[in-house]
Amino acid sequence: NILEANGNYVLKTIKTFEGDILPDNKEKIAEVIRDTGRGDFILTDRQGVRQMLVILPIIEGQWYQASMVPVDVLRSSYIQTAWGIMIIIVVACSLFIWLMSRQRKMAVNNQKMLMELAYSDSLTGLRNFAGFKREVEIFLSRPEISRSELTSYVLWYGDLRNFKLINESFGSRAGDDTLRYCMRVLERNIFQGELAGRGEEDSYYLCLRESKESAVRARLEGITEDINSFNKKREADTAYCLAFRQGAYVVEEPQMDITIIQDRAKTACLWQQDHTLGESVFYDNRFMQSLRQEHELTALFQGALDRGEFLVYLQPKVRLSDGKTAGAEALVRWRNPQRGMIFPSDFIPVLEKNGSICKLDRYIFEKVCELLARRMQEGKAIFPVSVNLSRQHFKDPDFLRQFSEIADKYHIPDGILELELTESIFFDDQGIEFVGKCIRRMHRLGFKCSLDDFGSGYSSLGLLREFDVDTIKLDRRIFLDISQPKAEDVLICLTELGRRLGVQIVAEGIEKQEQIAFLKRVRCDMVQGYFYSRPLPVEEFWEWLEKRQEGEGNQ
Ligand code: C2E
Ligand code: CA
Ligand code: CA
Repeated sequence: NILEANGNYVLKTIKTFEGDILPDNKEKIAEVIRDTGRGDFILTDRQGVRQMLVILPIIEGQWYQASMVPVDVLRSSYIQTAWGIMIIIVVACSLFIWLMSRQRKMAVNNQKMLMELAYSDSLTGLRNFAGFKREVEIFLSRPEISRSELTSYVLWYGDLRNFKLINESFGSRAGDDTLRYCMRVLERNIFQGELAGRGEEDSYYLCLRESKESAVRARLEGITEDINSFNKKREADTAYCLAFRQGAYVVEEPQMDITIIQDRAKTACLWQQDHTLGESVFYDNRFMQSLRQEHELTALFQGALDRGEFLVYLQPKVRLSDGKTAGAEALVRWRNPQRGMIFPSDFIPVLEKNGSICKLDRYIFEKVCELLARRMQEGKAIFPVSVNLSRQHFKDPDFLRQFSEIADKYHIPDGILELELTESIFFDDQGIEFVGKCIRRMHRLGFKCSLDDFGSGYSSLGLLREFDVDTIKLDRRIFLDISQPKAEDVLICLTELGRRLGVQIVAEGIEKQEQIAFLKRVRCDMVQGYFYSRPLPVEEFWEWLEKRQEGEGNQ
């Protein structure tokens, strides 16, 4: 039934088409019902109102439900409903669009936040290495950038020297400030189209639009100056010099992986020597070869040691006063079946870096003990043999115990084994006190101690006073130019000092007769050098010794 708003029936349920149905239409309606069983009509009622009549069967042929509603009511309710639905649809759509855009905005914001987290450095707030890398990558892959333009870029890497010292001395807060400060200085020293970024810890990267080494160097000098400009405001005695260990790589291949570009700049940095400090080292292919070689030697080392590829060579030390062989130095050689003879200068630095040198030194030491023990068993005389000790040993406070155990195992008498230390040991972090203690312990254990390569670096006579060494080995470089007028005076003083302190003086790397004459004049104790003999394999050394003893005293 259809109701009006006031609750009255517009049309009651009727049995026949009598009543409200207009009599003149009755026949027509009955006809439609007969034909189709249902129907709808527009008719005008007695009051002249246009009505919509809908007839549906309840029991076919008997009962029908007729519903009538004024057309106006129907139309307005349709329109209202339609409007209602439209409004709902519009509201729903707007809500949906709003929600979607909010969602998108949040996603964009989240992404932005994530990018910021990933690409900026929490300490300096500026680009971190990932950010730097990404921007350089985008930058170098721009299609409009020409090849010639690309090759005029340089990637620079630098890490602060002694940064740990800043943390230690001034606290980590000052350390953080320093890192922030350096980043700011780098940022303000780059031009448009260049980039700066912070790497790990105390390292930084720059992508500079330069190609000439000299230009890059000049720019970096400027930057270093700028970084140290804060000293102008400080008292002279509180000045603190900040310097970078730095390497650079001229970008040659635009498509090259940025990680490789970065690695090359870093590799170049590794090659920086102390004396070139403050200057950028430019990457060179030789660096890579050398790294590869380092890697290969490291991989080969243990196997080579097990297979006995390391050999002891002996070089005699001859006493100048009577020409007698008063000792020898053991020098290692590496005979590899594939590579042939490898010299210490090629592998000692590698083994020093990776720490294997200590193993090798103990091995050589044991071989020396073995050959001396064999010599004693054969009833032959022995003399002092010196073995080189790497500075790396001093990292282990108890390293001498192992040497002493080996010497005991072979019953080597005291005073026969001598340990050679390079003077650089004394300037290492371990501290002078510790080295002094080690030398005293060496003596207690029956070893002698010599100071090797004296005069090759920052030799100090103070060392002689400080340390109770038995021998000083003068570096061969001292004798390269003995024609200088002062050379003789310096050496006379040195040998005199040696005698007063009870220290033997050995001249190393002596090749010429005139050097021997000079050393005799300055009263040097012993000579080691090609003039007498190159380092020899052990058997050859004994043969050389026997031959020399036959004609002893002729030098
Ligand atoms: P070093 O201890 O100063 O040894 C002397 C070096 O000078 C030896 O080089 C020797 O062959 C060389 N030499 C001797 N006489 C002459 C000469 O008349 N002229 C020239 N030009 N050179 C001469 P080598 O055997 O190549 O050893 C180089 C360095 O490698 C050694 O310098 C030493 O520092 C290190 N080394 C050698 N063997 C060992 C070792 O077993 N352990 C450690 N840690 N280092 C070693
Ligand atoms: Ca030596
Ligand atoms: Ca030496």
